[in-house]
Amino acid sequence: MAPRQKTNEARRILHSTAIAPTEPLILDAFTSDPAGRILHLVLSKREQGAHVIGLYCGYAPLELIRAIKGIPAFLCASSGKTIAAAEAVLPANLCPLIKSSFGYIRTKSCPFYELSEVVIGETTCDGKKKMFELIAPLKPTHVMDLPYQPVEEGTLARWTDRVRRLKAFLEETFAAEIAAERIEAEIRETNLKCRLMDRVFDYAALDPSALHWSELLDIIAVEPLMGGEEFHRFVSPLLQRLETRAAGGIGFARPGSPRVLVSGCPIGGEAKKVLRIVEEAGGVVVALEGCSGMKGYSIRIDEGTGDPLAAVAAATLKIPCACMTPNRRRFDALDEMIRRFRPHAVIDVILQACHTYNIESWQIERHVQERHGLPFLKIETDYSQSDVEPLRTRIEALLESC
Ligand code: SF4
Ligand code: SF4
Repeated sequence: MAPRQKTNEARRILHSTAIAPTEPLILDAFTSDPAGRILHLVLSKREQGAHVIGLYCGYAPLELIRAIKGIPAFLCASSGKTIAAAEAVLPANLCPLIKSSFGYIRTKSCPFYELSEVVIGETTCDGKKKMFELIAPLKPTHVMDLPYQPVEEGTLARWTDRVRRLKAFLEETFAAEIAAERIEAEIRETNLKCRLMDRVFDYAALDPSALHWSELLDIIAVEPLMGGEEFHRFVSPLLQRLETRAAGGIGFARPGSPRVLVSGCPIGGEAKKVLRIVEEAGGVVVALEGCSGMKGYSIRIDEGTGDPLAAVAAATLKIPCACMTPNRRRFDALDEMIRRFRPHAVIDVILQACHTYNIESWQIERHVQERHGLPFLKIETDYSQSDVEPLRTRIEALLESC
């Protein structure tokens, strides 16, 4: 135990002497209030006439939402504060993300849900689809029936039909038509934003990493709320600041600090404790594989196919969520991320009672260890702080093995 403590202490000293950035990456009226930035954006778009459309997951095609002049608002789902209210109805041994989101709705404390005119859900996991049954009477809720075998014959046709039904739902609800040209235009916007995000990720891949995980999450949080050109204007000065950091060797760890790729369930709110502990243990988070991180941005939507709705369906079906079986694309995406971000270790974060990610974690562990020779740690956690010290011990031990 003693040598490990000594090494981690040494790493802390290294961090304290590293050339860390002195100014925030995002310099605007919300620099110290990223949540306020999101709410401000949603409210200002709503004032300009946009329909606020509540979402939980990337399978909901954003191109259709934007094509009907909607603003996609990802609903609150990552605080432990609303779980007690949820557990009055839902079983306690359920994923905290589901309990938290339901609790937010029960306590009317998610501003985005309150602002939403409709909610779009998908049958990704059992807990979420049953939760949607409970919230459906409260507000118009459209649940997309997601097929689970992404490469089986007929799956794409079935999912394309579900995307078409979503289009019909949106058109009927908002008494407007979604023209194919509008979807095609939104495809180009999405691809532009993905290319811009890809440039941002380049700075996380540096050694030392020029991009902090919290900055990355702040950028990701506003991206869906902006059109392509608007996001370009937002991100251009950030890219310049990142370039200045990179040119000056300014980053979030000295060369040699263990670089960590975090995979698994979406990480937001109180689950970010894992990322903080990695840092406190002397590591640097260089890549976030999950849906709250980089996963969706590697997918491009085919342009100019003549059937943009089908192109959107084909692209969303490529999201490598553990609800898919088999989920081969997740392993391929991980290979690419490991090549690009060069982590020294992988931590797979599983939210308690998320069976799909939990079971898949064994395959991920074998893949990471056998194919890439990297140390691996699986963490099961929730939104409480009660496991912080045991997690710290396990993460410190992992970083020691790097
Ligand atoms: S992990 Fe799966 S269910 Fe959760 S947000 Fe991502 S795609 Fe949706
Ligand atoms: S983390 Fe797992 S159990 Fe929780 S909502 Fe996502 S897929 Fe469902």
